Amino acid sequence: MTKPVIAIDGPAASGKGTLARALAHRLDFGYLDTGALYRLVGYSVLERGQNPADHAQAAEAAYFLRDYFTPDLLNNPDLRNDASGNAASKVATMPEVRKALLDLQQNFASNPGGAFKGAILDGRDIGTVICPEAPLKLFITAAPEIRAQRRLKELQSRGIEATYEAVLKDMLERDARDTARKTAPMKPADDAIIIDSSHISAAEMLEKALDTAMQRLGLSA
Ligand code: C5P
Repeated sequence: MTKPVIAIDGPAASGKGTLARALAHRLDFGYLDTGALYRLVGYSVLERGQNPADHAQAAEAAYFLRDYFTPDLLNNPDLRNDASGNAASKVATMPEVRKALLDLQQNFASNPGGAFKGAILDGRDIGTVICPEAPLKLFITAAPEIRAQRRLKELQSRGIEATYEAVLKDMLERDARDTARKTAPMKPADDAIIIDSSHISAAEMLEKALDTAMQRLGLSA
């Protein structure tokens, strides 16, 4: 029998990553942060001294990653910096890059690893393109100002200097690129449950999502 998949999408700093991780832990599901894959492509292009806006260079890095991917590559702390995030959102507009990463994501969804009871993937197009058949799709959103505050706090906690204005501007630019692109734009699937995390805590959102997952997937606690 195939294992259940939970697709979680939404913009940056909406709380989707925190939710996906916690949900995976509570349900004993494997978890894949697909944003980290795009970050890895962006980071690799930068590391090679190349340009993330160059289609051929970005595609080459993506195919290299597809062929030599190991999960520990996603633990590189440099993937979390803004340079990698910006490069990620540029390479993510390119159909060749998305194509290169498609199988990797779908393979994880259908085989998250022997011990896991299912798979959770989070990103921008999981419910619409990567796992359109997922029995549970969540789309987590929040007001841009609130997301910018959260991102600012996170950067500060890592000792990175930033201003609220710069973080908000960067976030709005990234949202615009993710929403406007032709290939796999960020949007909720028609059957996604939309959760606005602006005024609820991470713990409340987790309990809500957990209840929904148990009911929808027929799991017991
Ligand atoms: O989620 P995160 O901010 O780490 O993702 C970095 C970038 O990767 C996003 O801004 C987006 O452009 C891209 N991305 C994507 N599709 C996904 C996950 C991430 O286009 N499934």
